Amino acid sequence: MPSFPHPIASKLPHVGTTIFTVMSNLAEQHNAINLSQGFPDFDCAKALRDLVTKYINAGLNQYPPMAGVMRLRERIAEKTETLYGAKYDPEHEVTVTPGATYGIFTAIATMVRPGDEVLLFEPAYDCYAPSVEVNGGVPVYVQLKYPDYGIDWNAVQRAITPKTRMVLLNTPNNPTASVLSGEDMRMLEGILRGTDIVVVSDEVYEHIVFDGHRHQSVARFPGLAERSFVVSSFGKTYHVTGWKMGYVLAPRELTAEFRKVHQFNVFVTNGPLQHALAAYMENQDAYLSLAAFYQKKRDFFLQGVRASRFKPLPSRGTFFQNLAYDAISDEPDRDLAIRLTKERRVAAIPISVFYREPPPHKVLRFCFAKSEETLARGAEILCRI
Ligand code: PMP
Ligand code: GLN
Repeated sequence: MPSFPHPIASKLPHVGTTIFTVMSNLAEQHNAINLSQGFPDFDCAKALRDLVTKYINAGLNQYPPMAGVMRLRERIAEKTETLYGAKYDPEHEVTVTPGATYGIFTAIATMVRPGDEVLLFEPAYDCYAPSVEVNGGVPVYVQLKYPDYGIDWNAVQRAITPKTRMVLLNTPNNPTASVLSGEDMRMLEGILRGTDIVVVSDEVYEHIVFDGHRHQSVARFPGLAERSFVVSSFGKTYHVTGWKMGYVLAPRELTAEFRKVHQFNVFVTNGPLQHALAAYMENQDAYLSLAAFYQKKRDFFLQGVRASRFKPLPSRGTFFQNLAYDAISDEPDRDLAIRLTKERRVAAIPISVFYREPPPHKVLRFCFAKSEETLARGAEILCRI
């Protein structure tokens, strides 16, 4: 192919390949235990796979409704009401999307105009800033406080300007594994009262909260729910990250605008998978038991690294465990992550990739959505470092 004969004014000049792709490729190349990218190394339930086959064989293979299969939207609305006490109308307030990343992007594309400011918390999950920038928005950052990664609400208040259009929240949080409290939510509710600022609340790990704590969805807080797009993902909940299936909840007026963009961005989300998920969601235990399932894995991994020189930071939710390595090396985290993958055959994510400038603290993120065998092998290596 001849090369494009003009200079390209990139809309994302600073963006390269995501760290998840970089580290997973490197892990594969070096046959390393891959605790970097967040995905399970075990399969989803057979019952769920059987349902997909069933609906494909039943011939449900043409375009489903634009906003999603009604039966699935109803199950999502029921779940949200049971867990968070918030009523979303499946007809006008629930939209099924091809994953959460898409839901976040489309909510931003729907609401953010050139020059609008979007408040992000740093470290920030990697898709947030590029999604804001490619839509002409300006990310404005508030730092999470190391080592608990809590939010300084005075700093949030100070960061809000007449140009603020959106606040992007993420709880449970990737990469910090922190979770917001009810008090946090009430602080935000108070700060936003009387403004027209909207919230995108990334809650993909809503079912993975540990130690008896409750997930504080924005849906629980009327002053937030009325201005929020709540985004979730079936990928995390049912061990199917490769399916790219999720949903977005928002009040009717916001959903109407969201769907204007959605219908020309993707139009519809995979049909047979929606039918399968609708049937599978009737089994509430599958998501209600998820926290205990992952807490056991977190504790297994923590037990495994207890004798190592890595220092665990709190992991209150998600399937990530951060380990500080101050006692081991002065190296930048990216260098260490690459070296550990190549030389020790264990891969992790350097936390600095979620910052604009590398932070002073030395932390690697490890994914424990893995079999006990994988976790034991990974932990054993870490104990020798
Ligand atoms: N947000 C966060 C915080 C995540 O960790 C992930 C998982 N990759 C996503 C969004 C994306 O979810 P999905 O794969 O459904 O797009
Ligand atoms: N969310 C996953 C992680 O944080 C990866 C998703 C992706 O590769 N984009 O590791």
